Amino acid sequence: MAKTLFLGARIWDASGAPAFEGDVLVENQYIRAISRTPGQLTAPGATVIQARGKTLLPGMTEGHAHLSFDAATSTEDLITPPPEEQTLATARGAKALLDAGFTSAWGASEAKLRLGVAVRNEVDAGRLPGPRIRAGSLEISVTGGMGDESRLHNPRKGPSIIIDGPEEMRKAVRLCCREGCDNIKLDVSGDPFYPNTPAHLTPMAYEEIRMAVETAHALGRRVNAHTRSIAGTQACIKAGVDVLYHLEYSDEQTLDLLEEARERVFVVPTVSLFHTIVNNEAAPYGLSAEVGARMGVPALLEASSKTHTALRKRGIRHVIGGDYGFAWSRNGSNARDLQFFVDYYGYTPAEALRCATRNGGAMMGIDSGQKLGQIQEGYLADLLLVAGDPLADLSLMTQAERLLVIMKDGALYKNRCAA
Ligand SMILES: [Zn+2]
Repeated sequence: MAKTLFLGARIWDASGAPAFEGDVLVENQYIRAISRTPGQLTAPGATVIQARGKTLLPGMTEGHAHLSFDAATSTEDLITPPPEEQTLATARGAKALLDAGFTSAWGASEAKLRLGVAVRNEVDAGRLPGPRIRAGSLEISVTGGMGDESRLHNPRKGPSIIIDGPEEMRKAVRLCCREGCDNIKLDVSGDPFYPNTPAHLTPMAYEEIRMAVETAHALGRRVNAHTRSIAGTQACIKAGVDVLYHLEYSDEQTLDLLEEARERVFVVPTVSLFHTIVNNEAAPYGLSAEVGARMGVPALLEASSKTHTALRKRGIRHVIGGDYGFAWSRNGSNARDLQFFVDYYGYTPAEALRCATRNGGAMMGIDSGQKLGQIQEGYLADLLLVAGDPLADLSLMTQAERLLVIMKDGALYKNRCAA
């Protein structure tokens, strides 16, 4: 039996209680025992980690992963690479997340249908390093919606399946399920990157969304929705969508509906894309703050701040992450979201970390029944040992060299602590 004993750590267990000093014993993939008195636990044959002065916390979950987005600068970068190169890039994306302390990744969409599936299978088999993955699908969109790159004079395939009507939706969802995707991604609303259908519009019809949910749930899968518009978000809640992405525009009625559904849905705001554009971090790639302003990005960022601050107060289960994988917000820098949650949505650092750990863990275990995302006896041992106190300085979570130990499923993926 593989055992690891963390001695004298400052334990932040994500339950909402303050950190305390103690020991944690891991046996096989589970947290077996926690002692609030350091030195009480012994385990012959265990790997011992002297953790005094360091912070032990649960591994993080990325709530909207694009493992195959390899520093993309445009949709062209998703469409044109050969599948062989994209498969390798997806494997690198998975490793980048685990290296950054993300022991779980909830897949949004991938550039090709089976990229997330193939890498998930390799990681599960222990042949590639990566987080616990729920594989995302291709985007499912409608004619003229986000992801429809085709025009009459230039027919071409985007990183999407284009459907019109419930029957075509049923077929697309079944296809994604047949090929092994865990999560089905719908492009419900418009998007600032698609001028024909701006963010406040809702190209996908309720009947299409409802069919996607019925089909996915019948096959034991979950549905993610790209929804920035009020009508889109209301349709998603009514149709039973499980995970809502972006969600910038809202009104009182929408906030009420979300609050009523808060035990059922998870919400991932994906603020990074807009933050980086507004702060000119995407300028070297042709997407300056000025270009972003013409696309309406500052207004969307303001709307995001308003909506998600209100949702925080209503107790919604927010999860960090989203839309990392672009050149200006690469896979591996996802923990920047922690500070964004403080700056834009008014979370305390501890609450932002709970969005990353406790809420993310609840999301990942939704169908498996596995308990993860907290340091409690019987929970999966996904743990991070951090040099310093991330509750006092969230930027520590973005510094790979500060992550001294990364444990997933009870296995030491990284251990920079001398015994
Ligand atoms: Zn995305």
